[in-house]
Amino acid sequence: MELDFEKMNGLVPAIIQDNYTQKVLMLGFMNKEAYDKTVETGKVTFFSRTKNRLWTKGEESGNFLHVVSIQADCDKDTLLIKVHPEGPVCHTGTDTCWGEKNEQDIMFLKELQDFIDKRHAEMPEKSYTTSLFKSGVNKMAQKVGEEAVETIIEACNGTDERLIYEGADLLYHLIVLLTSKGYRIEDLARELKERHSENWKKH
Ligand code: AMP
Ligand code: ZN
Ligand code: ZN
Ligand code: ZN
Repeated sequence: MELDFEKMNGLVPAIIQDNYTQKVLMLGFMNKEAYDKTVETGKVTFFSRTKNRLWTKGEESGNFLHVVSIQADCDKDTLLIKVHPEGPVCHTGTDTCWGEKNEQDIMFLKELQDFIDKRHAEMPEKSYTTSLFKSGVNKMAQKVGEEAVETIIEACNGTDERLIYEGADLLYHLIVLLTSKGYRIEDLARELKERHSENWKKH
């Protein structure tokens, strides 16, 4: 990637964004060496102006930032780096350097979907997901039905803990079924969003 280090006196800002939640986690600076090391190792490395040396984020805390993608902006003087953070990003202990929480829960569904897509593409042996794909649409649909019934039972007659457990089972099996037909959980989200957009028009 061509970056205009010269214009920036050798240091380009790198915006670090969570690949799944899209939260901006922190901002750091990279010189050419830090950038090259980041690309090479897949772990975000800055040039620290306070330490006056290369600094691999997480070198002490273990909270590394694993690189998912790197993009330069329109005039090649700022980086946007999407990452998978191993832990809280800020040295104060908060998830982002602006004291925000980086809620993973909903966006984890996207990560799970990606993982199930990968299973579908690779079909590794001894994976439960693979065995579901191999069992065929009728079996997968039946599993969704069973988990729906279990969810109903827990809702009407069970405990909250069991309801969450069975609801999670239901969602997982539904994602597997959708994936086998070439769809993703986002397709359900889009359908729901389209219906919901009617509400926006009324405001
Ligand atoms: P770490 O790289 O996470 O092992 O942290 C090592 C040291 O880098 C910390 O003790 C802080 O001084 C500094 N540091 C860590 N995270 C940040 C951050 N997000 N922004 C600025 N400085 C940081
Ligand atoms: Zn720019
Ligand atoms: Zn910080
Ligand atoms: Zn179940």
